[in-house]
Amino acid sequence: MVELKSLVEEHELSSEMKGLLGERCRLSEPLARRSSLRIGGPASWWIEPHTQDELINAVKLAARYDKPVYMVGLGSNTLFPDEGIDGVVVRLQGEFASWKVLESLPDGQELVNVGAGCVNAHLVRGLLKQGYVGAEFLMLIPGCFGGAVVMNAGTRDAELGAILEHVTMLDTRTCEVLRLHRDELDVAYRHTNLPEGALVMSAEIRVHKGDVDAARTRAQDDKERRNRTQPYKLASVGSTFANPEGDYAGRLIEAVGLKGNVCGGAQVSELHANFFINQDNATARDFLTLMARARVRVKEQFATELRPEVQFVGFDGWSELARLEALERQSSNVSEDM
Ligand SMILES: Cc1cc2nc3c(=O)[nH]c(=O)nc-3n(C[C@H](O)[C@H](O)[C@H](O)COP(=O)(O)OP(=O)(O)OC[C@H]3O[C@@H](n4cnc5c(N)ncnc54)[C@H](O)[C@@H]3O)c2cc1C
Repeated sequence: MVELKSLVEEHELSSEMKGLLGERCRLSEPLARRSSLRIGGPASWWIEPHTQDELINAVKLAARYDKPVYMVGLGSNTLFPDEGIDGVVVRLQGEFASWKVLESLPDGQELVNVGAGCVNAHLVRGLLKQGYVGAEFLMLIPGCFGGAVVMNAGTRDAELGAILEHVTMLDTRTCEVLRLHRDELDVAYRHTNLPEGALVMSAEIRVHKGDVDAARTRAQDDKERRNRTQPYKLASVGSTFANPEGDYAGRLIEAVGLKGNVCGGAQVSELHANFFINQDNATARDFLTLMARARVRVKEQFATELRPEVQFVGFDGWSELARLEALERQSSNVSEDM
């Protein structure tokens, strides 16, 4: 009886969401298609709101049917669960995929408002076309601007936090709009401390008129470096782990002998040991097993805890990782407090 009630409610939610968004609400959308890693079962509802009103109405609808809401950009730093997500997965499009120059600042810089759905490479190309430099380090970072804000995305040269001003968010629990300054967000290496339930809608960055050719050269150099040193075009999330202070996760993983290590369809890249590749229909479990193996061995040999940079969306990846780490320790007879 309970099952029938929930089926009826899910059907109602589907038709109301379709009423709101039409074709921009997809049912049972395979998340593997929405992740650069090509891993993930179906999302019950995949939605692409184009306006703030659509977004707020969709979030309210999900809350009315007691369904969780998850945000993604291009899924280039996300691991989705094999069993999929029983919830509403939101990808911002339409007005969220645009940017505009707001004002000139007294120091000669320009304040630009960027929608969270803007693809990084499109944003940088557009800025350069209009003569603005300062954001070109984002060119080769796959993803949308919202994901870049959340991750404080960056390269060895620069990171988003350095040019970020304000972030405008929707509190998905209250549907209130919040606007916070960078200093209130505890922005750190590959980390931004967003309030719980916050969905980034847009943010302001500072850029300036400058030498566009030099900026293009910097982006081209970054491309060449990546093609030489990273399996950039293969299915991955880029760096699986954040670099520990003063060291490189890739160096540590290589040093414990895991370069090229395989679990099911997932492999530690032969080119860069911090890139884990989906080489042959890998599952989330294959990927997590490799992560667990790397964390256990690096902790054992170097007493360093590798922090996942990849984000677990729609499941408790940390618990799964802890379970798989216990299995790894058992098979290599390592005690937990090593
Ligand atoms: C080949 C490759 C190279 C890479 N190189 C780099 C690099 O040099 N530097 C670097 O920093 N990263 C790198 N990455 C990782 C990735 O590109 C960045 O983390 C990027 O910023 C993720 O953006 P996204 O839109 O794909 O985010 P997603 O993977 O879709 O989401 C990432 C996280 O942010 C959340 N999120 C996304 N959008 C929003 C929003 N609007 N509001 C609230 N939460 C949101 C998601 O729920 C998830 O937790 C690389 C990835 C790949 C595949």
